[in-house]
Amino acid sequence: MSEKMLVTQALDERDLLVKKINEKIYRVNPYCPHCGEEHCYFAVRLTPEEQEKLDEYYIKLEKEHGKMSYLEVALHEIDAPALIIERDFRCICGNVFKRRVAISRDSEVGYHNPETVGEVGSHPVF
Ligand SMILES: [Zn+2]
Repeated sequence: MSEKMLVTQALDERDLLVKKINEKIYRVNPYCPHCGEEHCYFAVRLTPEEQEKLDEYYIKLEKEHGKMSYLEVALHEIDAPALIIERDFRCICGNVFKRRVAISRDSEVGYHNPETVGEVGSHPVF
């Protein structure tokens, strides 16, 4: 009976994790190779594996370097992006293009770092 409870509890926790991941939206702005548009932002969601990789990046970074400032993290991400994903995007010109884009934790809609002036991308743009 208690084993059943554990399985149920594990499934509930898994569902909560999936829900939490699905609620996260990241903003990216790849340029369109067809028309050159570079100001469009696209909303993307991560797979559980991608989210795990992103989270592990910052855990590992803090373990290796201790507490880092927002700027130090940003500079580190230039050399070693936290996560690179590949997606298909449909531009406002109508063309679809495949692009690899870097994702960082502050790409998340609503992400707030107390060291920055305001929330980055507090509203998703579709
Ligand atoms: Zn375009």
